[in-house]
Amino acid sequence: MHVCVLGAGVVGLTTAWSLVRDGHDVTIVEARGGAALEASFANGGQLSYSYVAPLADPAVLPKLPAWLVQRDSALRFIPRLDVQQWRWCAAFLLACRSRRARQTALEMLSLGALSKAALHEIVERESIAFDYVRNGKLVVYRDPHEFERARRKMELLVAAGSDQRALDGHACVALEPALAHAQPLIAGGIHTPSEEAGDCHRFGVALADALQRRHRVTIRYETPVSELVHADGRIVAARTAAGDIEADAFVVALGLGSVPLLDALGVRLPVYPLTGYSLTIHHADPPHTPHVSVTDLHRKIVYAPLGGRLRIAGMVEIAGLSDAQRAGRVELLKRQAQEIFPAAGDYASAQTWCGHRPATPDSKPLIGRTPYGNLWLNTGHGALGFTLACGSARVIADMIAGRAPSVDVDAYAYDR
Ligand SMILES: Cc1cc2nc3c(=O)[nH]c(=O)nc-3n(C[C@H](O)[C@H](O)[C@H](O)COP(=O)(O)OP(=O)(O)OC[C@H]3O[C@@H](n4cnc5c(N)ncnc54)[C@H](O)[C@@H]3O)c2cc1C
Repeated sequence: MHVCVLGAGVVGLTTAWSLVRDGHDVTIVEARGGAALEASFANGGQLSYSYVAPLADPAVLPKLPAWLVQRDSALRFIPRLDVQQWRWCAAFLLACRSRRARQTALEMLSLGALSKAALHEIVERESIAFDYVRNGKLVVYRDPHEFERARRKMELLVAAGSDQRALDGHACVALEPALAHAQPLIAGGIHTPSEEAGDCHRFGVALADALQRRHRVTIRYETPVSELVHADGRIVAARTAAGDIEADAFVVALGLGSVPLLDALGVRLPVYPLTGYSLTIHHADPPHTPHVSVTDLHRKIVYAPLGGRLRIAGMVEIAGLSDAQRAGRVELLKRQAQEIFPAAGDYASAQTWCGHRPATPDSKPLIGRTPYGNLWLNTGHGALGFTLACGSARVIADMIAGRAPSVDVDAYAYDR
């Protein structure tokens, strides 16, 4: 079968790989001039399979007023005259109910486990280099109550098979000596030794290269899709300025670009941009740079060592695509990172980036069928797209092949 995958971010590329593995002919169509240049470009680099708690959680409810007024809050809500923003926020609040948040965490845990196995298969078969490390992840908490809540939540995940343990502040520094400066701030941490990290953009570029050279996949860069042409309940072509691209099946993996294209077909996707920022410090100073991936939960900032570089990523803004405050937020991220790792390297010359997570209100991606028989979705991966891409790709390939995926597909339906 000829399958057209829309989007060459990490989700589209891994989808293409899973489809090729099943023997399909694949064409990828991408608006940009290369692979992984949008949300997949300079993300936090965390392959966080066990730490998949959704953003929507009862614990965020008391923090909502601070999101509105505190300019240095890790999460900011900047109200807009935008129906989509308000609709998304209402659904987010509903997803914060404790039973639903718990169920979501368990569902994402099984998708995370599938993703881990699927990524390992890609890494082994394709020998791609992307500064990949199996270095473990340490989430540090500043507030003792928050640490205690996290410890209790961890017990739920451990009972479901997750490999995690709780550490006090001293044990956190013993595990990661680069945290020594921050020790007075740390109440405790949750360590997941099996977590991994890597450079998502390098992964995407290397995978695109392998798809083209080894698997004869055609990638049509600089080809924005303006419309999906349909007849009799099926998609017949992806319309581009360079002509229509026909295929037997189409997979939409366009991140934020999925929304307008599907809207035009009468399919409303609950996906909204959650803006974040990253810094990349080149030539990071080894004794002062973490070798374990670290998350400072209070600030919602993640740190990942990427082959001699340190990637620092964080902040969540529910503010649409406006860029009015970007310079201020990058400076704030630099200041906050220096609280934890002041001597990691030259912050002044760090490479800066702003990206938009294509997020659903409950943090679960949208994977599966649409009302159009041959149109499939693999989008809305929010803050965990690098982590969940390979598993989501396996699920959609299973569905297209008529096999039963190993996760509950109803949990990922766009109209769940
Ligand atoms: C600051 C930040 C930190 C993050 N940290 C992590 C992390 O540590 N770990 C993790 O797992 N995830 C992380 N994420 C999330 C992750 O980066 C995203 O979930 C993931 O990159 C989404 O991939 P995607 O392929 O769905 O979207 P994208 O990478 O955005 O790809 C979609 C592609 O579709 C193309 N496109 C859009 N519209 C059209 C069109 N009409 N025609 C043709 N092409 C089109 C775009 O050009 C783009 O290349 C982070 C995100 C941010 C912003």
